[in-house]
Amino acid sequence: MKQVLTLVVKFQASTEQQQLFSQMADAFASACNWINQNVNPNLTNKNSIQAVCYKDVKDQFGLTANHVVRACARVGANRLTALQKGKKVKSFKPTSFDCDARTFRFIEENWTVSISTTGKRLISPIRASNYHRGKLAGQNPTSAQVCLHKDGCWYVHIQLKSETPNTQKTTNAIGVDFGRRDIAVTSTGKSWSGRGIQQTRDKYSRVRASLQKKASQGTRSTRRRARQILKRLGGRERRYQTWINHNISKAIVLEAKETQSFVSIEDLIGIRERTNSKPRNKTERRRSNSWAFYQLRTFLEYKGICEGIEVVAVNPAYTSQSCHCCLHIGVRTEKKFKCSNQVCGWVGDADVNGSKMIALVGLSVSQPRGSELLSCAVTQGLPKAHTIALA
Ligand SMILES: [Zn+2]
Repeated sequence: MKQVLTLVVKFQASTEQQQLFSQMADAFASACNWINQNVNPNLTNKNSIQAVCYKDVKDQFGLTANHVVRACARVGANRLTALQKGKKVKSFKPTSFDCDARTFRFIEENWTVSISTTGKRLISPIRASNYHRGKLAGQNPTSAQVCLHKDGCWYVHIQLKSETPNTQKTTNAIGVDFGRRDIAVTSTGKSWSGRGIQQTRDKYSRVRASLQKKASQGTRSTRRRARQILKRLGGRERRYQTWINHNISKAIVLEAKETQSFVSIEDLIGIRERTNSKPRNKTERRRSNSWAFYQLRTFLEYKGICEGIEVVAVNPAYTSQSCHCCLHIGVRTEKKFKCSNQVCGWVGDADVNGSKMIALVGLSVSQPRGSELLSCAVTQGLPKAHTIALA
């Protein structure tokens, strides 16, 4: 399986180089807009677009042949994305342009990047961190984007393609329950408490609230200062969260690798609906909405692909209400789960039960015969809605 990793690295560009980037981005966006307006809107294939407009674009915008090809591809790709959302591409902003092997080159000897622009070819140093250096060493990337970020600086997004191990089919499942009290609980008994994180986030939240008050009420200079600090805090909180998610996903994928298991998680689109289904106080609402479960899922999937671990997302309906031993609906109070089936009567931690249920449902999704196991259990007295949830 192929995987593409995108590295975002800042340029250390001179003022002149930044102007060249701007000019190039202007020309690229103008070309894209012209193509979008003049080429049949039903064309989404880059080769079809290129076939009808290459010469016109090449003559008008001062782009190199390869940049014209990239502009056609950009319009095609954006049209396809818009089409899937039932929309049309409106316009292109002059904030980026795409490069290929001919218009972009990474030079490892002195950590620079060579880029073709409308003006001339330029070589700019990049601010490569240790992480970037580790990933880029010995690589010969063949595609990149040059982008102007919100901070007003130019960045290069470098694509690294790699082959990843094939995922192994296995019947061992690690179920992961994402929650509010604990960020994640696995069916193998590991958990990451949300307590310390919640305290940190609450602290940031309090500081933010007080700063926001200042940003709207104080004198002019106080307001400006408060806005600056708010911006910085946002970044710090985000980085903290990313770091936590990175650690959790790393540990889970490692365990899956060691025990030759696949990972089963809840389909996270459900979590907000579920945690928001009841009216809750302001603090709880913020918690359930702001913790980046989406990021955690993305990290798990990405690291899973790297290690050849399958990650399946299952419908979260009923996973927190059903007993993992007998699949009967039970009673879930804050922390505890109690099975209401008289014969079974399992009582224990609600999150542990949830994670084991997720592992079980994951097995039914992942294994060709797994669903038979479950449907056996299902026929033994589960409500109809439950059968649908598992299907
Ligand atoms: Zn039970």
